[in-house]
Amino acid sequence: MKIAMLARNAGLYSHQRLAEAARARGHEIDILNTLRVTMNITSHRPEAYYQGEKIKRYDAVIPRIGASVTFYGLAVLRQFEMMKIWSLNESVAIGRSRDKLRSLQILARKGLGLPVTAFAHDPRQTGEVIQMVGGAPVVIKLLEGTQGIGVVLAETENSARSVIEAFRGANVNILVQEFIKEANGTDIRAFVIGNKVVAAMERQGADDDFRSNLHRGGTANAIKITPEERSTAVRAARAMGLNVAGVDMLRSNHGPVIMEVNSSPGLEGIEKATNKDIATRIIEFIEENAVAGKTATKGK
Ligand code: ADP
Ligand code: GLU
Repeated sequence: MKIAMLARNAGLYSHQRLAEAARARGHEIDILNTLRVTMNITSHRPEAYYQGEKIKRYDAVIPRIGASVTFYGLAVLRQFEMMKIWSLNESVAIGRSRDKLRSLQILARKGLGLPVTAFAHDPRQTGEVIQMVGGAPVVIKLLEGTQGIGVVLAETENSARSVIEAFRGANVNILVQEFIKEANGTDIRAFVIGNKVVAAMERQGADDDFRSNLHRGGTANAIKITPEERSTAVRAARAMGLNVAGVDMLRSNHGPVIMEVNSSPGLEGIEKATNKDIATRIIEFIEENAVAGKTATKGK
């Protein structure tokens, strides 16, 4: 097959591993810098160009669109979809995953377990929102945050109010969530490909940080997850419409609750923690599923 990978930094571990795995299985793979792809939007036949040359047939595209280039990256991916190139994760599904509020609404609709979460625009409703999630302590999250930046634990009602007011003053959207204390600063990352969890790890925050992000100095270990956790992760990926997803869950007293579904989950942490060759599993999934024009949503 001829595969394109949309990625900004070809040197990243995940991108290198995917390229290596594709070549090892006899495929041709080009890593295209997402921001250097240009598009002719108005052409009757959708076209895209790379380094001055018209992009020809690819059998599949692996979108590795970073959060900071979501807008342009999704436009490029939609163009590829309109050119009938099959995408590992479709643009619409990635778009959903990049909006925390929209993701939670979609997951809630499917009856998946979530931390109790509230959202409001008007600062006069601050008290109401805190009460809705059961009062302090609460977790306050920037909707546009990633890698644990913009996730704050407020231990008391007063601190919750000041954090919410500070964020509001900065004119950013936030959501307020029940604090899952019993998770003890650890979370679970389940790596889903198709209808299977192919690997899972537990991440523990640095020292007394309640956030377990590896980018915040956390550590990771392979774990065996329960059948309930497996099915929650797979159902979450399905609900979002993602073939490949990193589903982050907390172990709460009332079962697994989902915090986030990542559409470009990193491979380094999970491959190193579990010793599994996830990159090859992804390439095999592409071999089994890529069909030109099979894209369900085409950006709609
Ligand atoms: P980001 O998308 O920036 O990584 P997350 O929503 O995943 O933000 O939160 C970062 C970390 O904070 C999580 O990995 C988890 O360890 C912790 N965390 C997030 N929400 C909660 C919560 N409601 N209760 C307890 N811990 C939480
Ligand atoms: N950095 C990747 C992204 O842009 C993955 C983050 C993660 O797996 O937590 O989504």
